[in-house]
Amino acid sequence: MKTVTEDPYMKVDRVAGHEDVERSTKESLMAEVFADPRFPHYLYGCYECGICVAACPSARFYDFSPRRVAQAAARRDIDLMFQQMEEDIWECSQCFSCLRCPRGNNPGGIITVMREVAVKNGLHSAQEALQGYSRIIFKIMSTGTQVSPDMLQPDAFPDWGPEVKDVSENLDLWRRALPPETHHTTKTGWAVADKTIVELYLIWLETGALDMIRQVDEGIHMILEEVMEERLEDEGIEI
Ligand code: SF4
Ligand code: SF4
Repeated sequence: MKTVTEDPYMKVDRVAGHEDVERSTKESLMAEVFADPRFPHYLYGCYECGICVAACPSARFYDFSPRRVAQAAARRDIDLMFQQMEEDIWECSQCFSCLRCPRGNNPGGIITVMREVAVKNGLHSAQEALQGYSRIIFKIMSTGTQVSPDMLQPDAFPDWGPEVKDVSENLDLWRRALPPETHHTTKTGWAVADKTIVELYLIWLETGALDMIRQVDEGIHMILEEVMEERLEDEGIEI
């Protein structure tokens, strides 16, 4: 089997299989999870009641259980947590319905922390899981939005409240009021001011979000840097 550790980011090779990954690598990854300041607020022990599973949409469709995630974390079961980091956590839709936990746990939050550690360390599982989202990431970061006018339908956004219905019923009016390039298409989005896009980019830069993107997709990161270089120059910003 192939080696599993490459400094400095400990990229874990998928072909190695969970059991072949060095124990020290798993310990190091989970140490990052446990050290996250959010972690103690997301886990207070587990009753094994299964309420989170009943509330979880992903548990209905996948071999996935927020209860298993909470229990593995509560037991500090490094091997199981690593296995979950490679597979289970990518099935979560981050809806946080599991906040109904009577113990006050936040399994979705634990998963958020585990995902961030997986991305920061460039795990292949993270790269694979996020591969399909590269274009969406690029679209949001380069245009400031992902939603285009014709996507605003009540069926598509049931959780956005009554305003979506109002907008969808008056799409013709909205289209007349919007810049032509945002019309009739899911390829373009609402026009966002350059200044706003630059501000968003700087936030992502300062918070380390861009570093995380580089870990999962170097190509998209490179293109994004090129696209933003000109905009930063226009705004008189040097990085
Ligand atoms: S946040 Fe994840 S684990 Fe929690 S209910 Fe939603 S899909 Fe399930
Ligand atoms: S709802 Fe809370 S206590 Fe019950 S199984 Fe899920 S994490 Fe454990």
